Amino acid sequence: MTEVEIEKENAEIAKAYKELLKVSYQTLSKEDKKLIREAFEVAVDAHNGQRRKSGEAYIFHPIAVAKIVASEIGLDATSIAAALLHDVVEDNPDYTKDDIERLFGETVARIVDGLTKISSLSKDADVSTQAENFRKMLLTLNDDVRVIIIKIADRLHNMQTMDSMRKDKQEKIASETLYIYAPLAHRIGLYNIKTELEDLGLKYTEPEVYNDLLEKIQDSKAEQDSYIKDFSKVIVDSLDKEGLNYEIKGRPKSIYSIRKKIVKQGVNFEEVYDKFAVRIIYKSDFKNEKFLAWKIYSIVTDHFRPNPTRLRDWISSPKSTGYEALHITVMGPKSRWVEVQIRSERMNEIAEKGYAAHYKYKQGNAEDALDTWIDKLQEALESNETNAVDFVEQFKLNLYSKEIFVFSPKGQLKSLPKGATPIDFAFSIHTEVGMKTKGAKVNGKLVPLSHELNSGDQVEILTAENIKPNRNWLDYATTARARSKIKSSLKAEKKDVAEEGKEILRRKLKQLKILLDEKSVNEMVNHFKLKTSLDLFYRVGIGTIDNSMLKDYASSRSNMFMSYIKNRIRKPTAAPDIDKDEITSKYDQLVFGKEEEKLDYKLSTCCNPIPGDPVFGFLTINDGIKVHKKNCPNALSMQSNYAYRIMQAKWIDSTQQEFATQIKLSGIDNLGLVNNITEVISSNMHVNMKSISFETDDGVFSGKINVVVNNINMLKKLIDNLKKINGIDKVTRV
Ligand code: MN
Repeated sequence: MTEVEIEKENAEIAKAYKELLKVSYQTLSKEDKKLIREAFEVAVDAHNGQRRKSGEAYIFHPIAVAKIVASEIGLDATSIAAALLHDVVEDNPDYTKDDIERLFGETVARIVDGLTKISSLSKDADVSTQAENFRKMLLTLNDDVRVIIIKIADRLHNMQTMDSMRKDKQEKIASETLYIYAPLAHRIGLYNIKTELEDLGLKYTEPEVYNDLLEKIQDSKAEQDSYIKDFSKVIVDSLDKEGLNYEIKGRPKSIYSIRKKIVKQGVNFEEVYDKFAVRIIYKSDFKNEKFLAWKIYSIVTDHFRPNPTRLRDWISSPKSTGYEALHITVMGPKSRWVEVQIRSERMNEIAEKGYAAHYKYKQGNAEDALDTWIDKLQEALESNETNAVDFVEQFKLNLYSKEIFVFSPKGQLKSLPKGATPIDFAFSIHTEVGMKTKGAKVNGKLVPLSHELNSGDQVEILTAENIKPNRNWLDYATTARARSKIKSSLKAEKKDVAEEGKEILRRKLKQLKILLDEKSVNEMVNHFKLKTSLDLFYRVGIGTIDNSMLKDYASSRSNMFMSYIKNRIRKPTAAPDIDKDEITSKYDQLVFGKEEEKLDYKLSTCCNPIPGDPVFGFLTINDGIKVHKKNCPNALSMQSNYAYRIMQAKWIDSTQQEFATQIKLSGIDNLGLVNNITEVISSNMHVNMKSISFETDDGVFSGKINVVVNNINMLKKLIDNLKKINGIDKVTRV
């Protein structure tokens, strides 16, 4: 570079820095400016001579990230300084964490340290490492949520400036962005940044699709503007008459979300009807905000017919991201449905800035939704028993899912993801409550635990001391929190059962004059076609290996020669141990989706899954379902580009498969009979009640219960217990 060029570049750096101070959302004090200035100087020094792929001086990157942090996200001076310093420790060995702390204090140092740690997480990662990294990243939320926010800003700027990168790198970064960063930005309430990340993600993963849509959107811009004008014309007079101070704007849908609609609904661009929404933003003091929103609602619906099923009142119950607004879909001009979003200026700021605006407007001691969310997340993270991929999948579901609001019997409001069940509710109250859930009442009526909750439901959880989580609960639990708690409890319980089973086995073998030792255990593992000794003990514990089966084994023992041959034949073909720590089952059947359907499938040749591997199904266009390992090298791109074609899949042990059956009961109707029956059913572990119906006719009671059980012994035991109930006369299996 010539001297003139260097001078020119320095002038540009100075200019970029001045702009940074100008665009700050928060008002900066003298000290703030001093802090930012010092951070800038250290960053300039540390990155001196470094250049980005594009050839640009490196320092432009931290300045740009700081700008996003200062203006789009609107964070404080501490964060702006940390953003300027975010790559210093990583890129220049002359600066350590201690240096940063000495120069800028503990908070800035801690944030920079968090950011450095995230960067150092392995960069070439498969899905499971990726997921593990993600979890580690979330753990840093514990230190300071600003770490994640600055990381998101860093990612946004990298995505904005990816053009000079190699194509495969672009794709990798883009798919990671769609997989992790966009959902996170959404959850933190950074809607604009989330949208930009998604659009950029699409741009680099499916460039043709992106460019095609971009063009079409630009072409239809004039038409949209004129539509908004037509819409406004109809209502401005009425709004003005009420003396309202407002602005009407068109809000185009993002390219990514239009793309999602096209794919999901199988339509073309022209057929996507809600490509934009109308936004009415009004001025108001805090006291009259809600009142004015409904006033505007009333005026809009005086002129346009509303669709009553599409009314969303996020003012009375804000989303857990803090989002507030009134949404209504009306039949607008040209007989087209159009969404109208009514927001005060304050609500609009929260929607655009998320976190920062949230704190700016924080009223009194109102519980902070973001803090609550972080607390909950922390808890889910602490139980590190779940594997990371499952965790992230679950976590992402929670990120994007729609929310419902339900009440406790005392009227306390809880927000849960759509599709949540009483189990989720129980765990959201307290782990102890969740663990002891016996049943639930919704709006005063007893419901099965699989019952899907709706907004507005009042939910009461019935608990009992003798209850423990069972495997079926995993079919109903949808929140990460409930699932991880249930899983760790099941794991612990399985171990307990196995220990007990070992003692039972020792006793039973003694009667058969066989010693329980390594040799006999190995023989039995082979005889019952199991994988590990723990499998064996567990099965004895739950009763699937009973006395007659043990006798079979004893007699087969007399022909040792045969079993020796059998073992020799079986051994080489046996699949490798899946997870020695876990009590593995004999995975021999693959099932898909929540319903655990058996479908035709092929194992993919790119990663060659074997039974027991964590896998997922991928719906191919010409070749049916292909099954891949969760850590298949192609998994990430499939997950992020074709999430809608992914099917959950898991290996099950067909010998442990559940079967459904119906039990008929009759007897004399008396008070508390129904309650006694449900109590018996729910206290029988491993029995899952699907539905229940009762009738009484002149004091004679009859009932039908549909249950799902693992084996016949459990059913017998259940029937015996039901017969013992006072008033019950007959119990039969249909
Ligand atoms: Mn960076």
